[in-house]
Amino acid sequence: MQGKWSKSLAFVFLAWACGPGPAAAAEGDKWTAARANMVRTIERHGRYVGSALQGRSLDERVLKVVGAVPRHLFVPRGLRHRAYADRPLPIGFGQTISQPFIVALMTHLAAVGRGDVILEVGTGSGYQAAVLAPLVRQVCTIEIIPGLAKNAARLFKRLALSNVKAKLGDGYYGWEACGPFDAILVTAAATHVPPPLVRQLKAGGRMIIPVGAPFATQQLVVVSKDENGRARTRQMLPVVFVPLTGGHK
Ligand code: SAM
Repeated sequence: MQGKWSKSLAFVFLAWACGPGPAAAAEGDKWTAARANMVRTIERHGRYVGSALQGRSLDERVLKVVGAVPRHLFVPRGLRHRAYADRPLPIGFGQTISQPFIVALMTHLAAVGRGDVILEVGTGSGYQAAVLAPLVRQVCTIEIIPGLAKNAARLFKRLALSNVKAKLGDGYYGWEACGPFDAILVTAAATHVPPPLVRQLKAGGRMIIPVGAPFATQQLVVVSKDENGRARTRQMLPVVFVPLTGGHK
């Protein structure tokens, strides 16, 4: 009898030790509430840029994912308390994690589907890739700064994002072996639309890219490639991104 009790007591203790515990659960609730608040802010913000959304609201699927991805894990520990403000934040190496509204907007404009293969140029913290991952078949993401590429790869593994492939390199040239792509998101400002990226976009695909001078206001541009391979551009709204670096001219 005693053996049986001590066994079940040991089981209860183990379950307690392995579970989240009250402090961790409260911490979890805190982030969940903060994320829900952030989603409401993003929705409100979406209503102000009605023309960029052509009068529609932001895609519900995108909002659902943004409401679930733990953004606090993608920012430096000392900035976690600000992770769910609708703002960009520094992530080291002179770079930033994009404003959540811009992440949601770019994902919405990319109009991604379940079977899609997506290229992201500028992995940064990995947050945009983590938002894309549950919505598509494959995300290929390229980062030019080794320290950021390494940190992001570690997070993708920790969060078991097995459909995210990440590499270190110059994203101006795309990632031919991973493509062709249904959509491309460039998360650093380019002075022009990179021709290699247009080539790696499928007919019928879309590229979302900030275009303009570095350290100034740029235009968020949607490049659509029609079934005949012709590319058309549409300017959506003014944005400010860190510059696309690398060796291209
Ligand atoms: N998408 C990121 C996120 O979710 O955290 C934010 C990206 S941050 C605004 C822009 C990133 O683009 C930086 O990490 C920067 O190092 C990277 N970058 C700049 N030029 C690049 C290039 N030529 N190829 C790949 N990455 C580049």
